[in-house]
Amino acid sequence: MSEAPNYIVKGATGDWEIVVGLEVHAQVTAKAKLFSGASTEFGAEPNAQVSLVDAAMPGMLPVINGECARQAVRTGLAIDAQINKWSRFDRKNYFYPDLPQGYQISQLYHPIVGEGHLDIELDDGTKKRIGIERIHLEQDAGKSVHDLHPSMSYVDLNRCGCALMEIVSRPDIRSPAEAGAYVAGLRQLLRYVGSCDGNMDEGSMRADVNVSVRKAGQPFGTRTETKNVNSVRFIMLAVEHEARRQVDLIESGGTVIQETRLFDPGSGTTRAMRGKEDAHDYRYFPDPDLLPLVFDDAFIAQCRGSLPELPAAKRARYESTLGLSPYLAAVLSAEKETADWFETALAATAAKVGQPVTEVALRVANFVSTDLFGALKKLGKEIGDSPVSPDALAELLALAADGTLSGPLVKQVFEAMLETREGAASIVEQRGLKQVSDTGAIDAAIQTVMDANPEKVAEYRSGKDKLFGFFVGQVMRAMAGKAAPGVVNDRLKALLEV
Ligand code: ADP
Ligand code: MG
Repeated sequence: MSEAPNYIVKGATGDWEIVVGLEVHAQVTAKAKLFSGASTEFGAEPNAQVSLVDAAMPGMLPVINGECARQAVRTGLAIDAQINKWSRFDRKNYFYPDLPQGYQISQLYHPIVGEGHLDIELDDGTKKRIGIERIHLEQDAGKSVHDLHPSMSYVDLNRCGCALMEIVSRPDIRSPAEAGAYVAGLRQLLRYVGSCDGNMDEGSMRADVNVSVRKAGQPFGTRTETKNVNSVRFIMLAVEHEARRQVDLIESGGTVIQETRLFDPGSGTTRAMRGKEDAHDYRYFPDPDLLPLVFDDAFIAQCRGSLPELPAAKRARYESTLGLSPYLAAVLSAEKETADWFETALAATAAKVGQPVTEVALRVANFVSTDLFGALKKLGKEIGDSPVSPDALAELLALAADGTLSGPLVKQVFEAMLETREGAASIVEQRGLKQVSDTGAIDAAIQTVMDANPEKVAEYRSGKDKLFGFFVGQVMRAMAGKAAPGVVNDRLKALLEV
């Protein structure tokens, strides 16, 4: 892989390098919480989804939700990680109003997933492998709401006990752009795997951003940790701001202290929240209410078998097997739903025109990425709600392939399909939109146009070749866009040259 050059922060004393490690919290896609049967659905009334376990009533016992463990294992396999067949839950003790248990159940010593990695690609095409240290399962806390009452805070425990995967990167990230590419790539992967919906604005995915700076060749500097940053852009801003702040601090004689900071989206800056606690402050110990998690090979094989083709592999296949450009391959594989839609349309088109998929791939890819995406954007719809189905698109493209529809007619019929949700063939039938290649009709239209523009004909004949396009346009208009362009070209040449 070609290495990205390290990003530099200019200081008064010279150049500084940024070192970043990200701890991403991803809410596991599961109907129930990690240790209780309460629902995890987003947007419910406050405290409508709180079981006695989540509320930490005395005597309540946690029961592991197997689906959450399965999703963590699938995620681990997707980042090529070691899956730990034996893992265990620990209690991390601390007091917080939105944590009724007084401790969070997490995995400090024996996480479910060990070392893996994610390959990222920057906008300029450089690639880099980012190490992932571990993924562990833990409970989310509830939410304190401070802005609904003038003098009191409210507590909403709906999120309390939801399963999180904490995905901890190695300090391999060296720039805001790499941090952005890592989080975007991780989000894409989780969405493909189906282990997290990646909805950052609903808090389903958020990152703790660890940043330090150093002079080239020096050991790592002291890091700060900016908590709960919830968009790719904010993560990049937090890295940039925090690195700048640390360089300025060090160069003016100060020292970076290891602390927890908060990101303020309004100003794009970070501010101190609290000093960093050490692990021993939490008095971690194995949770006595839970047995260790033990997996056999068959379970892991089953998890592996349930993974879809992952984005990197899909993208490579689109390029090498389907012959798509890197751009088209990236766009069409960006989301699993889009890729599935494209592949269904591709198979259907190939079947309808009776050609191998490799022959029609570029045509389908171009149509999906320009016409369909453009239309969906205008309609404000996701591909899952497209008014035109993959089969319907295949029918349209087949009518183009067999010469029934010219390029402009394809666009017209597609517009009508978007509006009416009807099939291409029936629209062509109803509106009489078949392409006309009959030279009699085309010659007649050409004659009409020539008769109406005698000066232009004279100019053309005296050498003003550029006027040819004008005639094509006029004839097409006269025939309501239905004339076969090839035939119009041929006949115009013949009749104008006389
Ligand atoms: P802790 O357990 O105290 O949170 P870890 O060693 O697990 O600390 O590291 C947490 C995160 O901080 C990891 O993502 C890691 O890559 C990152 N990190 C560690 N050291 C540095 C550093 N010097 N600069 C930037 N990031 C760092
Ligand atoms: Mg940590």
